[in-house]
Amino acid sequence: MIDATGERDADVLIADGRVVEVGPGLRGDSELDAAGCVIAPGLVDLHVHLREPGNEDAETIDTGARAAALGGFTAIVAMPNTEPPHDDPTVVASVLAAGAVSLCDVHAAGCITEGRAGAALAPMGELYALGSRIFTDDGACVAEAGVMRRALEYATSLPGAVIAQHAEDPSLADGGHMHEGEWSSRLGITGRPADAENVIVARDCMLAELTGGRVHFLHVSTAGAVELVRSAKARGLAVTAEAAPHHFTLTDAECASFDPVFKVHPPLRSAKDVAAIKIGLADGTIDAIATDHAPHAVETKERPFEEAPPGMLGLETALALTITELVEPGVLSLPEALALLSWRPAAIAGLADHGGPIAPGSAANLCVIDLNVTWRVDPLRLASKSRNTPYVGRTLKGRARHTILRGVPVVVDGQACR
Ligand SMILES: [Zn+2]
Repeated sequence: MIDATGERDADVLIADGRVVEVGPGLRGDSELDAAGCVIAPGLVDLHVHLREPGNEDAETIDTGARAAALGGFTAIVAMPNTEPPHDDPTVVASVLAAGAVSLCDVHAAGCITEGRAGAALAPMGELYALGSRIFTDDGACVAEAGVMRRALEYATSLPGAVIAQHAEDPSLADGGHMHEGEWSSRLGITGRPADAENVIVARDCMLAELTGGRVHFLHVSTAGAVELVRSAKARGLAVTAEAAPHHFTLTDAECASFDPVFKVHPPLRSAKDVAAIKIGLADGTIDAIATDHAPHAVETKERPFEEAPPGMLGLETALALTITELVEPGVLSLPEALALLSWRPAAIAGLADHGGPIAPGSAANLCVIDLNVTWRVDPLRLASKSRNTPYVGRTLKGRARHTILRGVPVVVDGQACR
């Protein structure tokens, strides 16, 4: 068993949704075998696109939550770029209601601005009252410094609220389809420069200092952004950051295939950026691994590269990619990897019932991880309604064997209970 308090050999006894006892030789009415596996607090994903309401062809709250549970997640934060978006309490309430009967806890991020248009602030106080703690216009960057300042100032009046930025300056990134660099020149595809991300991260660190508000940087992808976050943290600013698995496992060279499955915003970057993300994960600069799970229906991802929408699936491969690409090669220890996937993101989102520690009285939101199983990514076997994974055919190590949500096994031996 591994949680924020350390590593030990133990059974976990659960009743009425809570952990009752932790120790050797415990017996219960029904038992889940975890021999040879690691029991950990359930994983927490700060960044998931569930597409409902508005784009249920690609994903629904139910299918997305099932994919999450199969990936070992017990809590996910739904991004607000639905149609209509999460700038309206009735929309957020309906997302939460559907999430409440799904296989994973679904939290709804609220919009920063009305319609995610980057101008007037959304009714953040009303969304906060419904439980939103993360506010973001994700998919769009809050480009106006003055709007970002007002959002940060307002968020300081809401305890635990954090402003999450999709850091890509549209005046630099718009019209680009991949990372601007050697590969974009060679392929003749218009690029999105690393500095589109860097200038926003630099600016928002300054605004965090000016306002005292909390900023979280979504899907950090550049060496420059990692360095900016590192120095902001060294100055004691309330800044956190996440990285997505595709930004530590894939480079812009993949775009040479012209396969739109490799199109994502921010884009896959250079090998140098990938190396910097790994260092940032290892040295604590980056706080969380978040998937940016972005399902797209097959027809839309079959368009030419320049016309296809950005985004890739993530929920069912994140844990195995972390184990295969970071833990196995020794970039992270297993406890460090689990911290990035569970208790550190739980703390950012203020999810007291997730991320452990696994102790008597705590909510029984757990996952049991088999570190030794190897499996091949087959898009047809994913629970997501969409198929746009860039890892088709890859052999990965490690998988969630069981997932337990408030004491109820929702995934047993790799199978969802419904
Ligand atoms: Zn984004």
